[in-house]
Amino acid sequence: MSAPVDLLIINAKYAVSVNSKNEIFEKYSIAITDGKISHFAPADELRNLEATKTFDATNHLISPGLINSHTHLAMSLLRGWAEGVDLQGFLERVWAAEGAIMDDATSQLGTELGALEALLSGTTTTMDMYLNPAATHTGAVRVGLRHICGPIFFDFPGLDGLEWQERIDRALVWKQELEKIGGPYIPTYLMPHSTYTDSPEHLTEVAQIAQQLDASIHLHVSETQAENDDIRTRFGKTPTEVCRDTGILGRHTIYGHGVHLSDSDMQIMAKAGTAVAHCPGSNLKLGSGIAKFRKMIGSGIKVGLGTDGCSSSNDLDMFAVMRMAAHLVSFTDSPADVDLNQIIRAATADGAVAVGLGDRIGSIEVGKEADLIAIDLAQAHLTPIHNVLALLVFAAGRGDVTDVWVAGEHVISDRTSTKIDQIDLLARVNARVKVLADIQ
Ligand SMILES: [Zn+2]
Repeated sequence: MSAPVDLLIINAKYAVSVNSKNEIFEKYSIAITDGKISHFAPADELRNLEATKTFDATNHLISPGLINSHTHLAMSLLRGWAEGVDLQGFLERVWAAEGAIMDDATSQLGTELGALEALLSGTTTTMDMYLNPAATHTGAVRVGLRHICGPIFFDFPGLDGLEWQERIDRALVWKQELEKIGGPYIPTYLMPHSTYTDSPEHLTEVAQIAQQLDASIHLHVSETQAENDDIRTRFGKTPTEVCRDTGILGRHTIYGHGVHLSDSDMQIMAKAGTAVAHCPGSNLKLGSGIAKFRKMIGSGIKVGLGTDGCSSSNDLDMFAVMRMAAHLVSFTDSPADVDLNQIIRAATADGAVAVGLGDRIGSIEVGKEADLIAIDLAQAHLTPIHNVLALLVFAAGRGDVTDVWVAGEHVISDRTSTKIDQIDLLARVNARVKVLADIQ
């Protein structure tokens, strides 16, 4: 007899594998051992498999967990704080609030809130750019999220008060910090904020340190036309050309936004293997524009989906993002151009490649880490099911996610965190944000 598997998810009504053939299986079971998928086969075949725990998915759809490839989780504390403004107005208002409250403890608190919202919504991985990454990572790991983060870089001291050399010094010990904090595996990232807040000299230095640490890079690029104009005036280049010329594209790099990329930018990026986090909700709300989702993919760029932070998109709902991404294709191209597999892949398997985790997560396949979500199908708005992909993109919502596993750990059970006390967390958040009333 072989040892029992840790978990057997039995008899899934649908298992949306997001494998290379985008296969959807019916009445399948998934076995998980040591955090990884050890078996994935018709339920009948795995009927006699011994398991320490079982989850009956007879009325559920099982999907890979969603990957939010660009966000700022701690900004959940500023939900609804900057309304009726464009990116410039947004930054002014938000940076004032952040300056007033975002110390280590508050960054951690905001990240715990964001991580809980993400997991309850079926998101198992986030690419989180924020100040105080050791604190944010500690918070997210506590809640059970796969939380990609990294040291952030600005030319100026910024809200965390760090001088440039201190940022560099912290980056050099980042890997050791990550090891100390633990949690689900993440790649090492450095996160210079953007080409408009980091000089070419500083970007070059970050690229060199990334090389030294074998780290990936995440930064905001070409979010608005005003940003492109500013960089053109200062350096006579596009932001992507600045990234190329400073060595930023010499690493595995993922852009946040990438709304205003020229054809030539896309060629440069495709050649360098640069990815993009498409954030349709934030881009629409701030009036930044509409990223060329299909054109980027057609150019060979890996595109993930993201929410951006809660102060510009107000929530971390990746189901809403999938739906917006699809609707925008209908609007900019045509309904016939909406490829639902492409949308779902951007939120899962392609998103995994975009964040540098393509070999570990993003699909239901033997050997992958078990980052999975269960969606309750026994509901009026999900009945009948003529098209599983259309159900996921256009009808299902985050409230339909009942259970979530990250690296095999059951972090959300029946819509409830198994890791933290939600009532206590919300009370701590409400107590902390009271101070913002003074800077209204
Ligand atoms: Zn952002």
